[in-house]
Amino acid sequence: MTTQKWRTLSRVFLMLMMTVHVVTWYTFGMQTFGSIGIEAFFSGLARGVLNTGFVFWILAFISAILLGRAFCGWFCWFGGYLELIEWGIGDKLKIKIPRRILLYLGVIPFVALALKIYSALLVVWIEHGIPAVFTFQWADVEPWGGQQTGISMLLTAILYGPVLLFIFGRKAWCRYLCPIGAFLKIFSTVKIGGVRLVNNECNACGQCNRVCDMQVDVMGDLNTYGEVHNSDCIVCLKCTDVCPTNAIALSMRRHDASLSADAAARAEKSTLKRRKLSALDVIIAVIWIGVSVFFFFSDVRAYSPQEIKVVMSVALLIIVYGVVWLGQKGWKKVKAR
Ligand code: SF4
Ligand code: SF4
Repeated sequence: MTTQKWRTLSRVFLMLMMTVHVVTWYTFGMQTFGSIGIEAFFSGLARGVLNTGFVFWILAFISAILLGRAFCGWFCWFGGYLELIEWGIGDKLKIKIPRRILLYLGVIPFVALALKIYSALLVVWIEHGIPAVFTFQWADVEPWGGQQTGISMLLTAILYGPVLLFIFGRKAWCRYLCPIGAFLKIFSTVKIGGVRLVNNECNACGQCNRVCDMQVDVMGDLNTYGEVHNSDCIVCLKCTDVCPTNAIALSMRRHDASLSADAAARAEKSTLKRRKLSALDVIIAVIWIGVSVFFFFSDVRAYSPQEIKVVMSVALLIIVYGVVWLGQKGWKKVKAR
């Protein structure tokens, strides 16, 4: 069986386990293990309870230290759903957005993570203090406890699936919005294993770059670090699958391998083309984050449903980009006169 089939199988298995969990809990009253959602993790910590969610996520964080964001590529049920959508729709309808805009969107998950930790954990600790004792309680939070309603789940699935794919391309949620991905990125900065150069055969054909849905500059990383260093890598192994020379593989140790001078030169050229982060992008990012944070802490947040906030946030980004871009163009025209 191919790597990608194993990957599909692992997520189908997790989905099945989740279905069994929900059915046995609600239908048969077998309530031994509670929710494995990240909300259960935060909610338990806030109240001094170490629950199933806590154990699940601690294991996920350990997996990130071992193998980076492999959890995202192999076990995340939402990632599996997105790949299903991508498989069904493909990239044909994608709106083309300049790559440099996409570059700074990577800050969004970290903002989302900070807000999540603040609202789900820190607020409770600030108000009631950090619990003096933490006790184990497996069935602390029910599987669908505190989850969204059916209609908002449907909206979420559409907004984060087809709509994001349409605007930002493959794996848009994983790259630009997922706070769990941001959490795992932090742990994966010290990862032990990953995709590495295992021989000197790389010919800089660029196939690994082209196949990567997470837009990782595989060749650039191999050239600089001898491995895929970028924490966006979800260890899907599509790049190792397509490499015609078997120059890269998932490995737990570093190999004495490097790119030839010719391949290195080609990799550098490709990297330069991909990484044109201008001052304009930084200005836009600062304005956009500032306004978003203001929205979050203002009264608007109290009245807006989650989905509206997401739409507002994306629309805001596009407006900010448009205004700054037009301003810059106008200024250039004025100067040219
Ligand atoms: S690692 Fe493999 S796929 Fe990537 S550029 Fe080198 S030879 Fe091509
Ligand atoms: S770098 Fe390779 S393993 Fe990592 S996300 Fe891209 S294709 Fe998958």
